[in-house]
Amino acid sequence: MKIIIAKNAGYCFGVRDAVDLANNIAEKEGEVYMLGDIVHNEKVVDDLSKAGAKVVKSLKDVPENGTVLFRAHGTKNDIWEEAQRLSLDIKDATCPLVHKIHQDVRNLSNEGRKIIVIGDHGHDEVVAIADQSKKTIVISNTQEAEKLKRIRKAGIVCQSTQAIENVQEIISILMTKIFDLRFVNTICYPTKRNQEQIKDLAKIVDIMIIIGSFTSANSMRLTSLSKDLNDNTFQVTDESELNEKWFANCNSVGISAGASTPDYLINNIKNKIERIGNRI
Ligand code: SF4
Repeated sequence: MKIIIAKNAGYCFGVRDAVDLANNIAEKEGEVYMLGDIVHNEKVVDDLSKAGAKVVKSLKDVPENGTVLFRAHGTKNDIWEEAQRLSLDIKDATCPLVHKIHQDVRNLSNEGRKIIVIGDHGHDEVVAIADQSKKTIVISNTQEAEKLKRIRKAGIVCQSTQAIENVQEIISILMTKIFDLRFVNTICYPTKRNQEQIKDLAKIVDIMIIIGSFTSANSMRLTSLSKDLNDNTFQVTDESELNEKWFANCNSVGISAGASTPDYLINNIKNKIERIGNRI
């Protein structure tokens, strides 16, 4: 059985840097605190917790003079201010591409535009992007775009991991409702690359395996993209969820993974599929 792993499957540089930073601080200082999960992957959060990186619900749970790590997804302004007021040692792991989206929003807002973010409601990254301007509108799908009232002047950005197809469909509806519209395409290049590779791979293999947590909107989107091109697409969080029956009569398997999936999980999956291939 031929196994092809997408070239850039798994961790994007933003997540890899954030996880490395959390590990390094935990190793040096014994412990570091994070507001919520650093990435949407239970196994990564578990590994980090064992290393000394603790998840807290509120900054009040961080001990005096403690170190707090702000995640790759970005952090709301009031949390930054509170951490500074509490004199916490802030380590900023916000991905530079997310910082750039925040700056894009501020620039568009300074032009007097109403801000619209295309993204998932309540997702940490979207919440922090929306926070860069007042009364930001979040739109996640075409039905919500249809309901929007007419706007004279608007600036649009999107969550870094959106699928281009969803953004295109929403923008074409918004074009009929907004007179002066400026769109900055803020889908990040690791996401674009990952999506393109999955589309190419899904067309040429018998089965596609997408590795990622079901709590990760990014991984779910990759699965859906792959499913559109290959019915035999399965999402798993680790090798224990692989089902031998999927691989009967299969000559080729494609593997990709969401941006929050560590390398060792990809290797474990590949090794298990190899073993299955040798058996059937
Ligand atoms: S998905 Fe893109 S924007 Fe988000 S952390 Fe990774 S590289 Fe940065």
